[in-house]
Formats: sequence, structure tokens, C-alpha cells
Amino acid sequence: MSAEPRPSPDRGDAPAARGPPPARPVAVLGGGWAGAVAAYRLSASGIPVVVHEAGSVLGGRARRVERSGLAIDNGQHLLMGAYGATLAVLRGIHQQPDADPGLRRFRLVVAPFERSPGPLLEAARLPPPWDLVGGMLRSRALDWNERLAAVRWLRGLAKSRYARPDGETVDGLLAPLPPSVRRLLAPLSLAALNTPTERASSAMFARILGRLAAGRGGTDFLLPLLDLSELLPEAAARRVEARGGEVRLRSTAQVAAIRDDGVDIVATEGQWTASAAIVAVGPHQLEGAFSPGVAALPGVGRAIGLTGALGYEPTTTVWLGFRERLRLPAHIARLDDRPGHWVVDRHDVLERSPEAAQAHALRGFLAIVISAGGPHDDLDAKSLFGEVHAQLRRLRPEFPTPVWSQVIAERRATWSCVPGATRPEAGRIADRLYLAGDYTDPGLPATLEAAVASGERAARALIGDRER
Ligand SMILES: Cc1cc2nc3c(=O)[nH]c(=O)nc-3n(C[C@H](O)[C@H](O)[C@H](O)COP(=O)(O)OP(=O)(O)OC[C@H]3O[C@@H](n4cnc5c(N)ncnc54)[C@H](O)[C@@H]3O)c2cc1C
Repeated sequence: MSAEPRPSPDRGDAPAARGPPPARPVAVLGGGWAGAVAAYRLSASGIPVVVHEAGSVLGGRARRVERSGLAIDNGQHLLMGAYGATLAVLRGIHQQPDADPGLRRFRLVVAPFERSPGPLLEAARLPPPWDLVGGMLRSRALDWNERLAAVRWLRGLAKSRYARPDGETVDGLLAPLPPSVRRLLAPLSLAALNTPTERASSAMFARILGRLAAGRGGTDFLLPLLDLSELLPEAAARRVEARGGEVRLRSTAQVAAIRDDGVDIVATEGQWTASAAIVAVGPHQLEGAFSPGVAALPGVGRAIGLTGALGYEPTTTVWLGFRERLRLPAHIARLDDRPGHWVVDRHDVLERSPEAAQAHALRGFLAIVISAGGPHDDLDAKSLFGEVHAQLRRLRPEFPTPVWSQVIAERRATWSCVPGATRPEAGRIADRLYLAGDYTDPGLPATLEAAVASGERAARALIGDRER
């Protein structure tokens, strides 16, 4: 991967070669998961690519962040067994067809962080939908009437093929359920949609439940064992480079013009002409990826208009290092939302950075996740750390004191998954111009799976157009 400007691929500064002129590369704008997958798929099909990434590391909203020598991430990311597109790409990139490369698989468990006799919910070892049904029937948080109400509700959703009315919120969907069942399901919706349940789209939450029930292991949790840049985008970039492609870091690019024979790209390091472009930037960055002339094209203008109407939700992660080895009730444990929602055991961060772990004398490492916005947004890092520490102590008075902390607040972590949020779809939006990104999948909220599936879709649309 190069941070330095390189000669433009078609300036003609390479020595003349015999035979047909080399095909012009495709420009991929954005080196997040969507752009990395699009570039990987094109390269694998023999199409040369140049990836422009504005940041200094690949990964976008799912990237490695280095702090005091520790390779933490910009936030805790959880994948699900139902992430079929992501798992397929990871298996291809890491060349491990039968594994979950770079991931550790757990059964879905909702276990309270405080001392308790056991989990509140644990998926049964059964094929879907019996894994969730079995989990509900054994839930320690529910009495028998509540368990049956939860199972009837799940069956009703399945019977309706997980369809819900367009304008309904998740609170509306959960309203008929007993409060104890709502308390179990609402945190799962918040975690999946990163949008408070009083505003979140029930249609999207229901679709996700449908996806989880669609195949064996769909409800499994998959936790990254590699940092988020290494897990997919950097591994994809190595494959792209091995096939003669280029990945340019610190390179902000714009689609300047579309001509009959190519697409003009203006980037930090210079201008060049690509054969086509895939724009895989975040939704709030879309308008900046086009010159005014290109933005005025109907398909491009429509995409910019739709993304302009989206709202955004933050996600805050408080990373904590401890001198002690820690034992959580489960790898991911439930907090009481004041302010942390979930705590994740991230000892793997220390295993990846043994020297830094030793230098800071760290033996335990946690990520505390706070989904969406709230009063915590007004706190500075020190105050938020204080609140999270107090929360852990309130729930488990014997819990040790962190000696290292880092707060990372991503203000635009995801687009707001509210009813009626209309979005453009991945694929061709103008001649030689294609769109990808986590906001372009009509069936998914802003997730890694949506990003990966969109990168695949954009690449396939481009390949299909070439073959025509
Ligand atoms: C803290 C946090 C926690 C999350 N947790 C989860 C989770 O648990 N599970 C899950 O599935 N998803 C989670 N997500 C969502 C997930 O990270 C995103 O949906 C996904 O990473 C989006 O990928 P993308 O490639 O579509 O967009 P981005 O990651 O935004 O990538 C766009 C890239 O384009 C670059 N760029 C922008 N403009 C230009 C330009 N003009 N030229 C060149 N480059 C440009 C940007 O620098 C960026 O790298 C989380 C997100 C955050 C922030």
C-alpha cells in the first residue's frame, strides 16, 4: 500500500510495450469494507483497479486505531453467523474455505455482567427457528406465560414472513409483549440497528430476525480476532496488489467528469482517467465525491438527494486496560445501559500487541459499547471513563480498577435506521459509474454485511456491463 503519490496509470510514462494497450484501471473511491470488497472482486476477475482511500489506514468505519502501541479498533464490531456475504469473502481472501477466518464463533448469549445464576437468554443448540424458540423457552428472565408470549410472537413474525408495516417503530412492534420480553428484545434491536427503539424501523428489525432464522448458525456471534483493517480491507488490498492493482492511502479523490471513453479522476496526488469508477464512500461523503457537473447527472443527483435526507447515529466505545486477568460471565455481557450497554472481553488486543501490553503491565482488556446517542454524548472522555468505571463497580463491587483507558466516539457511525429512510441501491448510477456502501442495501441496516454485499453488487454490475 502506498502513501506516496505514484505516477498516474495512464500518463504514458511507462516504457512503450508491444501488444494491445493495457486496459485502463477502474477507480475505487473509498477503502472501507465496501470499497475493499469491490476492488478485490474486480481484481479477482482480471480487471485492474486503483483504490483511493482518503485516510491513512484502510477500513473506514471499521478500522484499526493505534493507541500507546496497542492495535485497538475504532469501535467494537460484532458479526453474526447470518453474515453470509462477509463470511464468503473472508473465506476467499484468507483462503480458508471451511473456516471463520480471523473470527471466533460463539452461541448467542445474553448474560448479565453482574453476578447472576446464569444467562438471561441463550440460543439452544438446535436448527433455526428452534435455536431462538428454545432460548426463549428456557429464558431465566421470563416466567412461563412470558416465555409462551415470546414464542407466539416469534411464530407470528415467521408466519408473516417477517414483514411489518412501513411506518412502525420497534417500540410499536414490541408493544403487545410483556415488559420482561420487551426488556430482553429491545437491547438486541438497539445493538443491531444502532437506533433507539422508539425511533427504529420495525420492518428492518423484523427482516434481521428473518435473516437470523434463515440458516443454521445464523444467530451465532462472531468476534474479530484480527484488527478490523487486517481482517478484511488490508487482506483484500494485498490480493489486489498481487494482481497488479494499486492502493493509494491519504488520497482523496473526486469523479471530475465522465467521457465516452473513460472517467476523469482528480485525486490528492494528481489526475488520471479510469475506465469506470465505483464510489464507495460513506453516505455523508457522497456529494463530495463528485464534481458539480457529475453530481448533476440524474442517477447521481438522485443518490445525493436520498443520502442528504438520512440522519446519523453515533457509537461510543470505551476501551479499558487492567493489571488483572478478567473473567466475564460470557465473552459479551450485558450492562444496565447507564451508560454502557455491553461489555466485551478483548484480551485478544493484548495478545496481538504483547510488547505494548507488557510495557503498560496490562493483563485484562475490555471494550464497553454505547450504541446510538444519549446524555453520554455531552461528556468529555475523562468524565465518560469515570461514569463507565462507576457503572462496572456498581454492578460488580469487587471489579478491579482500570489503569488504561481510551474513549472513541464515532459521531456518524451509522445512518439512522428509522421507518421510511429511503436509500439509493448499489450498482450503476450513471454510465461508467457505480455505487457501493453500507447505506445501499435495502434489506440491511448499516453493517459490515451491508457494506460487503454492496461491494460485491457494484463489482458484479460493472463486470456484467463489460461482458455485454
Ligand atoms: C463504532 C462503530 C461500531 C460498529 N459496530 C458494528 C457492528 O458491531 N457490526 C456491524 O456489522 N457493523 C458495525 N458498524 C457499522 C460498520 O462499521 C459500517 O457499516 C461499515 O464499516 C461501512 O463500510 P463502508 O465501506 O460502506 O463505509 P466506510 O467505512 O465509511 O468507508 C468509506 C471510506 O471512504 C473514504 N472516503 C470518503 N470520501 C473519500 C474520497 N472522496 N476519496 C477517497 N476516499 C474517501 C473514507 O475515508 C472511508 O474509509 C459499526 C460502525 C462503527 C463506527
